Amino acid sequence: MPRRRTHPVQSAILLLLTAAIFAADAFTRLDTAIAVMYVVVLLLASPVWPRRYTLALGAACVLLTMGAYAVAHGLRVAPSPAGRALVSIAAIAITTWLVIQRQQATDRLRQREQALRRSQAFLAGAQRLTRTGSFGIRVPDGAMVWSEEAARIFGYAGDAAPDMERVLAHTLPEDRPLVTAALRRTMACEGHIDVAHRLLLPDGTIRHVHVLAEASYDADGRCEYLGAVTDVTARVEAEQQLHASHVQLAHAARVSMLGELAASVAHEVNQPLTAIVANAQAGRRWLGRAQPDIGEALGALDGIVQASERAGQVIRRIRALARRTEPEHVALDLNVLVQDTVELLQRELDRRPLALRVELAPGLPPVLGDRIELQQVLINLVMNALQAMDGLPDHHLEMRRLELRTRQDDGMALVSVRDSGPGIADADGARLFEPFFSTKADGMGLGLPICRSIIARHGGRIAARSTPPGSTFSFELPVHQESARHEQQSDALP
Ligand code: ADP
Repeated sequence: MPRRRTHPVQSAILLLLTAAIFAADAFTRLDTAIAVMYVVVLLLASPVWPRRYTLALGAACVLLTMGAYAVAHGLRVAPSPAGRALVSIAAIAITTWLVIQRQQATDRLRQREQALRRSQAFLAGAQRLTRTGSFGIRVPDGAMVWSEEAARIFGYAGDAAPDMERVLAHTLPEDRPLVTAALRRTMACEGHIDVAHRLLLPDGTIRHVHVLAEASYDADGRCEYLGAVTDVTARVEAEQQLHASHVQLAHAARVSMLGELAASVAHEVNQPLTAIVANAQAGRRWLGRAQPDIGEALGALDGIVQASERAGQVIRRIRALARRTEPEHVALDLNVLVQDTVELLQRELDRRPLALRVELAPGLPPVLGDRIELQQVLINLVMNALQAMDGLPDHHLEMRRLELRTRQDDGMALVSVRDSGPGIADADGARLFEPFFSTKADGMGLGLPICRSIIARHGGRIAARSTPPGSTFSFELPVHQESARHEQQSDALP
């Protein structure tokens, strides 16, 4: 309970006043109810004395009034002075009661004020800690209120007058249409607002904020938005850094994978080069004849052009795998991805005795993704499958099978790689995608975790299961509805 501070000087004055009133009442013969003056003492004491002192003072005033009567008139009843004394006592009692009532009301008010201040302080502390400010917008006039933290997040001093124009002034120009659209919906009282946008502060820093607001209606049906704005800069920056490290790691793994595939890469480049040499030699022979055969020579030259184009393509593809670029999401046909991967790994496949089966679902809808990253995933899964089968004893040679399949399932496009290797041991099942888990002597254990992070960043899932004999690794990606629709429409055209 809030305490009144009793000031000694004020208390002394009150006591002196009380004594003076008593003296005047007891020792002067004035025909007035002097004791009524105690009311003044009580009124003066009430703001400075605690309740129990005031009560004691009231009781003391009543006793002093009776005492003064006894001093002045003895114990006999003198009608007029006794009446005045009784009126005074009644006035003192009523005043004491009223003063105490007022003190109780004031104390309650102070308590509420303190509780309010405390909860305001809690709220402000919590807002500072969570970097979340609150605001309200009245519809339709757009009058705004905001908390100190909201003002700070929007880049203003805590006491700056809240204003939507100010918010827009600090919004990054590219994000202004987003904020204006949200504001328009607010002004039309159109449901829930959920916007993430950036602020450009006067000192040039970029701040990422997330704004959530909900409409509420007062008793008269007027709409008002109550919302929260959170400064999510730290989280967004951490996510950006994480993304950049994922991309770097995926790139490093790709480069090291290309190193492992050096023989295949050389083979892929060699093939068109061999074709070029063979065609050039044939061309020379056709032209070197006594009767040069121009037609055949031209055919050989065409062969050279085609092989050169093919060599160019191969080099472009390999350079793309080696280059470090920010992933670029485009509509992709997973069937083409599987075919390209099989071509790139042809030599790895050729130099092993195995039966390869490729089953591509006709009309597989496109997915949205980065071609290089998804190819990296597929190369990884195929190479793991090949390496798993490499470990099989020789008498299993004829049973080596690799199956690559694509299919569509419930809005997802799926690629699976099934091998007839040793399968996945129960104990390893849960750890396959953990970083640095490897059962290979020279394994890094980063291939599958990187595959998982690439697929996750594409909004898909990757999974491994035992499919005796061997295992199946598959990933699925959401179908890109827009380009799937587009393809369907162009298929339907006559
Ligand atoms: P690494 O190839 O360096 O070992 P990965 O993350 O690619 O790293 O693979 C982790 C582990 O998962 C492998 O060491 C192996 O034990 C297991 N694994 C991956 N693919 C297969 C597969 N097709 N069959 C059986 N086990 C596999």
